[in-house]
Amino acid sequence: MNLAAGRQDVVRLEVGEPLFSTPSHIVEAAVRAVRDGYTRYTPNAGLPSVREAVCARMHRDYGLEIRPERVCVTVGGVGAISSALRAAVEAGDEVLIPDPGWPNYYMMAVVAGAVPRRYPLRPENGYLPDLDELRSMVGPRTRVLVVNSPSNPLGTVFPPTLVEALVDFVSTHDLILISDEVYDCIIYEGTHRTACTYDPDGRVVAVFSASKTYAMTGWRVGYAIAGEEMVRQMAKLQEAYVSCAPAPSQKALEAALAGPQDCVEAMCLTYRENRDLTCRLLAERGIPHRRPEGAFYVWIEAGCRNSTEFAHRLLTERGVALAPGSTFGPRGEGYVRVSLVSAAEAIREGVAALAAAVAGAGAPGRGRPDGCPGGCEA
Ligand code: PLP
Repeated sequence: MNLAAGRQDVVRLEVGEPLFSTPSHIVEAAVRAVRDGYTRYTPNAGLPSVREAVCARMHRDYGLEIRPERVCVTVGGVGAISSALRAAVEAGDEVLIPDPGWPNYYMMAVVAGAVPRRYPLRPENGYLPDLDELRSMVGPRTRVLVVNSPSNPLGTVFPPTLVEALVDFVSTHDLILISDEVYDCIIYEGTHRTACTYDPDGRVVAVFSASKTYAMTGWRVGYAIAGEEMVRQMAKLQEAYVSCAPAPSQKALEAALAGPQDCVEAMCLTYRENRDLTCRLLAERGIPHRRPEGAFYVWIEAGCRNSTEFAHRLLTERGVALAPGSTFGPRGEGYVRVSLVSAAEAIREGVAALAAAVAGAGAPGRGRPDGCPGGCEA
């Protein structure tokens, strides 16, 4: 990203945020809120009207009755996950995180004083968590299981039965489940069911965000649904670290949740078209990849030994930026992640350059009898 920054001649396929502007009705609501005096601290867990708007949203989209006491408005999904982790662990406790997975889980666990342990997401299992494998990793110090669906970088959407089984699993082993659902509105196929649907006793922290859904990454606002005690602890931690999410951003979130949702549909339609285009181009060139059901990334087998070096060379020699798979954990080595937020033309150009680089790298995935294990297409 640093190498690509500021260069006009680079095809940007590494971007992890929507390139759309925030919809104007949301911007206007925030401007009005600032004029109306929403320029001060708010309660740690968020403005009451925003917590109510979250409850209404959970009812509208998931049919769930959630009390406002179970809502914590946070500084993005990042703020929700890091506060929940800090609330859940003591120094030396273990946190199970996905591999490949969003790299910030590792950092957040370390910053909270915990020990991150990576559980494998295997292509032969459709990149879904395996409960037996998870069970074998639970020890006396394990406190938290982190899951992410829709997934960055894999684009998987967990079937509802798996979500329910994961909640059961954390109940059995007395763990906290942090369920990162920040891409919950970006779904192409399948059904996303939030983990809090199945929460028996307040051990699920389901994390949502305005960032990806409403193209609001810079506003820094999100929210968690958790048990009341967890929300109290998260709110206390917010006092220590950030006090509260910014008041104008909270009002923007309220307007986003309560307002028309056709802007979300329109953005998703573009991502879906980009997904279809990217997967078609990759398939035509015989490059193994995973067709995502959600989020806005395609996970691609690059046929390289060192994905960081591969990405570096793709950028310096062919002017295309993408994310090396090793960023997402040791199991991401050999893969790259392409983002679907760019224009179709950039995708065409980027995939053509990627194909040439994959051919140059030897492309061991292609032509192999098992060239495209579970969940991949070629
Ligand atoms: N979770 C995942 C999987 C992400 O990819 C991101 C951002 O890239 C986040 C959480 C955090 O997003 P934010 O803090 O902007 O809500």
